[in-house]
Amino acid sequence: MRFYLTTPIYYVNSTPHIGHAYTTAIGDMIVRNRQQRGQETFFLTGVDEHATKVYRVAQEQGLEPQEYADRIAVPWRELPKRLDAETDFFIRTSDEGHKRFVRDFLQRMYDNGDVYEDVYAGWYCVGCEAFKTDEELTEDGLCKDHLTKPEWIEEKNYFFRLSAYQDRLLALYDERPQFVLPGFRYNEARSFIAGGLQDFSISRAGQPWGIPLPWDESQVAYVWADALINYLSALTYAREGEDLRDVFWPVAHHLLAKDILRFHCVFWPAMLLSAGYEPPQQLFVHGYLLLDDRKISKSLGNVIEPLELIDVYGSDAVRFWIARAVSFGHDGSASVDSVRERYENELGNDLGNLLSRTTAMVARYRDGTVKRVEPDAPVDFDALREDVAGRMDDFDVTGALDVTWDAVRRLNQYVTAEAPWQLAKDEANDAKLDRVLYTLLDGLTALAVALHAYLPQSSAKILEALRQPAGFEWERVRNGGAVTAEGIGQAEPLFPRIELAATA
Ligand SMILES: [Zn+2]
Repeated sequence: MRFYLTTPIYYVNSTPHIGHAYTTAIGDMIVRNRQQRGQETFFLTGVDEHATKVYRVAQEQGLEPQEYADRIAVPWRELPKRLDAETDFFIRTSDEGHKRFVRDFLQRMYDNGDVYEDVYAGWYCVGCEAFKTDEELTEDGLCKDHLTKPEWIEEKNYFFRLSAYQDRLLALYDERPQFVLPGFRYNEARSFIAGGLQDFSISRAGQPWGIPLPWDESQVAYVWADALINYLSALTYAREGEDLRDVFWPVAHHLLAKDILRFHCVFWPAMLLSAGYEPPQQLFVHGYLLLDDRKISKSLGNVIEPLELIDVYGSDAVRFWIARAVSFGHDGSASVDSVRERYENELGNDLGNLLSRTTAMVARYRDGTVKRVEPDAPVDFDALREDVAGRMDDFDVTGALDVTWDAVRRLNQYVTAEAPWQLAKDEANDAKLDRVLYTLLDGLTALAVALHAYLPQSSAKILEALRQPAGFEWERVRNGGAVTAEGIGQAEPLFPRIELAATA
């Protein structure tokens, strides 16, 4: 089994904000879970550097665009590491390997007869990097997303004959009802296609920043035509001497936010068909993580610096909040305060205290040793293992965490109900106390493995504190998998109290 996951490549005309952290962190959870289940994975992220805005800002600052892009790419490259996201490659669209591949790809579309020359006249929003129809503008003629006046552009362009792909795209959607998830996004994309497709410009004239077209070097590739191709180009040069297209195409899964649905779910598969490639396997379109009911976005001047949250609470806590605060796939709102609430109430109390209590009781009542005995089953971990795997395959990252957290709470209820501190008072209860302590050790071991994709650091600490072997193989989510352990002492708090009240 092979699994290739991509985040969108992010515009470098701003610094990373929580919206980017959102997609990258969720992607990492999905990939880690696939790895736990023994799949061969590849996780790609990166930056989109050929935006008009990059060129303009560089000019304003008196820099070469490449020099400007090199500087601003630094915090983007750091973002996955800060989130503890294990990406396999960080692509930059100014990479030589990418540029070479884009030229080849566009030439294949051209050779296939799908590209023609025409004059384009219309409104262009530099913020969106897209032409705007009258319906996409406000009554005052402003871009609805940016509330800025678009520029009137009239120039010779090369157009991709998207209209010729309407029937093939509809056939693709009908053959593959899971091509786009969730279902309501599939319907949105399909009805857009069924409503009739217009050819779109794939080049820009008079702009030196970008990838020159192989058949007309006076034009550069339109930034979206350039950017989308990254999902394929990266596979050709990410590993020296290897062509990963043989391994990871077309088993590609693209994560994207809903504002770029058409580019990904309509234009991209058509471009692939034109260039002679298979469409990707699946696209998952997620909503926005809203903060105080507003989209967290640079252009609205409402930025949360995700790295600040990580500095205060740690990457595990921010990942946990990202997965749990809003049901992945839908829009939802969350506040910065809710990071603290979840840190204290759920991570600290539900999970952290469970580990502290368990290890403290083992140290106190059994001198640090827990023998493997037949456990009770307050949680059916076989069922949980199947449930979580199925949900992760459906990109239900939030639902998978919810059912896992229910198990954390059931284990807490088990401790309360069995009251080992009472059992310890009478040696007649020895066998029962052994069973309760092993059940807790075993449950926490299974939970550490089940939570690994969300809490990579804490899950490793739990196994260590319980003196269980390292490793997060998915089969370890089961009842009775924990081994006899010696030398357990009371664990350090997993999520120590943080006195800082505000982070913003
Ligand atoms: Zn715009």
